[in-house]
Amino acid sequence: MKVAVLGLGLMGGGMARQLLAAGFDVAVWNRSREKAEALGEAGARITETPAEAAIDAAIVVAMLADDNVSREIWTGDNGALAAMEQGAIAIESSTLTNDWVFELAREAVTHGVRFIEAPVTGSRDQAAQGMLRFLVGGEANVIEAARPAFDAMGNALVHLGPIGSAATVKLANNFLCGVQAASLAEVIALFEKHGLNVEQAMAVLFDGAPASPMVKGVGRRMLDRDYAPHFLVPLMAKDLGYAAQALADVGITSAIAQAARQRFMEADVAGEGHRDIAAIVEPLRKA
Ligand code: NAP
Repeated sequence: MKVAVLGLGLMGGGMARQLLAAGFDVAVWNRSREKAEALGEAGARITETPAEAAIDAAIVVAMLADDNVSREIWTGDNGALAAMEQGAIAIESSTLTNDWVFELAREAVTHGVRFIEAPVTGSRDQAAQGMLRFLVGGEANVIEAARPAFDAMGNALVHLGPIGSAATVKLANNFLCGVQAASLAEVIALFEKHGLNVEQAMAVLFDGAPASPMVKGVGRRMLDRDYAPHFLVPLMAKDLGYAAQALADVGITSAIAQAARQRFMEADVAGEGHRDIAAIVEPLRKA
């Protein structure tokens, strides 16, 4: 089966490798060619445009930064949708707004393309290991038709309902993660400024009620100043903005999402934008 992957960043690169490992015939496209070349060495066919990647693919998977990039890559000049065969399946796995996902689903219909949204939980390492969890919105028969590709890239799939369901749950997931990371950064800066034994103080939190996988994983990286990217600072700012918008759309003004987003934006402005979300502690350390 021919599969195209559009976007070979921290997540898309691992997903494409897993598809290759499972024996799919994989075409790849990425804005920065060097990431595509790394996949080419692993057996993928490198293409020059999203349209060229999509032209004969049974399934096209996109893993891109945000709404604007998704719009451009699916529907812009040399976009994938117009090139796809009738009945082929478009899978949008980026973390996006409901509004854009709905619009994209409508665009897909006009091109005779079957569409599902499938954002993921898991990060860089889970993508590299084929251990992602797909949150899926769309029709069950389309999901089943795409099942072999999902099985290659992940180890769990939750069908949450029609288009828009998965975007909503994914934004809620990252809202909770972003708020925890932002408050964790404040707490670590507090402990350090108090001159506490920070390892000992953090062990209280790591062993106690706040100890979510997020708190333990990102907290450890903050303490170790290990900012090799799993999930980049500006993308979490994006997700918190999208989550605030989703809440506003139902009449809830989320001061919490906005305050957490502010921490990520401050870190981006302070030069941490190319680093892991754990780096949001740095501006607070220097404050
Ligand atoms: P990433 O490493 O920054 O990759 C982003 C991708 O988007 C790259 O392929 C990048 O191309 C492309 N891109 C950005 N701006 C572009 C533009 N103007 N035109 C064309 N392509 C553009 O990010 P990622 O971590 O893989 O995240 C991808 C998506 O998955 C995001 O929606 C993110 O929120 C979501 N996600 C991430 C994680 C995680 O833990 N990392 C987990 C779940 C979901 P270049 O290589 O040329 O920059």
